[in-house]
Amino acid sequence: MEETWGQFKTFEGTRFEALDAEFTQEVSTLIGGQDLTACFQCAKCSAGCPVSDKVNIQVHELMRMLLFGLKEVLQTDMVWLCTTCYTCQERCPQGIHITDIIFGLKNMAFKRGIAPKGYIVARQGLFDTGRLYEPTDWEREDLELEDIPEFNIADIQKMFEKTGLMRLEEKEDA
Ligand code: SF4
Ligand code: SF4
Repeated sequence: MEETWGQFKTFEGTRFEALDAEFTQEVSTLIGGQDLTACFQCAKCSAGCPVSDKVNIQVHELMRMLLFGLKEVLQTDMVWLCTTCYTCQERCPQGIHITDIIFGLKNMAFKRGIAPKGYIVARQGLFDTGRLYEPTDWEREDLELEDIPEFNIADIQKMFEKTGLMRLEEKEDA
């Protein structure tokens, strides 16, 4: 059976036309203006990435796309399947803050209305109930845990309001 981990389209055969230097600059500002041209494509980042066999482009390819100013990078599943384990960042001989870039790309993608449906649904669930899933009593009993303490959902929703998380779905500059 074919695996379907990828959230977004494959780029195989895609011809990219527009290179956007401003986009490269925008990404650079995510990591304090670090020079992305320092990346010399050694692929050490990709070699250590635990999701490398689940994504449609590898981390070093993501870096290449950024250097070329290709906004299509926001549609890659690397952005969303990244576990933020920081392995790539630790391994990079050039000290590029790769994981921090990917964090930033998530936010940039969200602001443009690009996000896997699962994330939108999970966010709504968290907003509505304060939980990503409902733990069952027997699970807690098995672990000899006390009942789940009551919490005020309004407090959680206030946090969402403060961080603007629920508004991120709106396309700010698609
Ligand atoms: S490890 Fe660093 S220098 Fe090597 S490809 Fe990845 S980002 Fe570029
Ligand atoms: S931080 Fe993300 S991209 Fe980097 S190695 Fe971990 S999973 Fe891969």
